[in-house]
Amino acid sequence: MLYLDNSATTPLLPEVRDAMLPYLLEEFGNPSSKYYSKAINANQAVEQARQNVSSLLGCKPEEITFTSGSTETNNMILKGVADYYQTKGKHIITSKAEHPSILDTCEYLETKGFQITYLDVDKYGRVPLGMIENALKADTILVSLMWGNNELGSLNPIKEISALCKEKGVLFHTDATQVVGKIEFSLEDFPGISFLSCSAHKFHGPKGTGVSFIQRDEYGVPVPFTPLLHGGGQEAGIRSGTLAVHNIVGMGKAAELANDHLNENISKLNSLEGQLTFLLTEKFSGNIIFNNDTINKIPGILNVQFKGVNNEILVKKLAPVIAVSTGSACSSSKPSHVLSSIGLTLEEIRNTIRFSLSHLITEEDLLVFKTL
Ligand code: PMP
Repeated sequence: MLYLDNSATTPLLPEVRDAMLPYLLEEFGNPSSKYYSKAINANQAVEQARQNVSSLLGCKPEEITFTSGSTETNNMILKGVADYYQTKGKHIITSKAEHPSILDTCEYLETKGFQITYLDVDKYGRVPLGMIENALKADTILVSLMWGNNELGSLNPIKEISALCKEKGVLFHTDATQVVGKIEFSLEDFPGISFLSCSAHKFHGPKGTGVSFIQRDEYGVPVPFTPLLHGGGQEAGIRSGTLAVHNIVGMGKAAELANDHLNENISKLNSLEGQLTFLLTEKFSGNIIFNNDTINKIPGILNVQFKGVNNEILVKKLAPVIAVSTGSACSSSKPSHVLSSIGLTLEEIRNTIRFSLSHLITEEDLLVFKTL
């Protein structure tokens, strides 16, 4: 079975598993404990992982806070910023093509009296810069826009958005879950990004762990917000709870590997995407439409309409041979709000499936499409 649902989650690399195992077994210490070797070893492993993740993102290690993943980070930043800055303003800007962990959190905040602007997106799911500029108000406390879309792969103009938010003095959060390990960037070049979310399992690390990048100023002070989890004061008081050392070590190893092989993985993904596009076009030409853009996108994500074919039935039929999904695994029971936001009809949405590749796939693997 060929696994082509890597935007939903990716397989754990063997090197990642090997790095994690000692911290599930003999090195089980609590990194917040002191003096004895099991605690010191656990703490050192967490700090090494923090270093590896910060190298991948291009930020300072102390700007990395470990969480349980992007859902938690997105909730933490949105709710935490809303709570902390509510006397300054109650307006937040996001887009209609965001992940449910942003949209549902925004809907919750609306029930608490916040005003949310859900920006329209263009035909590939990108937010035009001018719309953000027009939506900014004196009481805007946060702009939250994803870096790359999980269904279409389109990249938002993050450099420009970051510059705009910096110029206007508004906090900017970006959900980078789908782009980490897939595009080259360094947060050093994005001084307007205050917060970023990502999850380890999207780049061959373990599930249930991720980070929040929280920008620090030249004095080392992080952008303040109210913590989501109160308790033992781990992670500099920003995120309480005993650290999941094995998962964090796994994320660190996955980040190290992603960083070491970034360029080769990107070119592999690009060439696999080209091959899959060719195979699909050859096999189904005239009967398919690509919903995704061909440029300025995450490599390895294709979003394809099979005219007149129900996507649920197609995914089910393909399942013994090829694992794909109709779109986001996080909202698979409903028609895609992302595809609806780019103007597709319900019929077109119901004809669409997403293929998402990984650098572990070979060109030979894709030849299975010839046998369909
Ligand atoms: N944001 C985006 C863009 C995603 O693709 C996902 C995962 N589908 C998430 C957030 C949530 O990540 P997690 O399930 O790891 O918390």
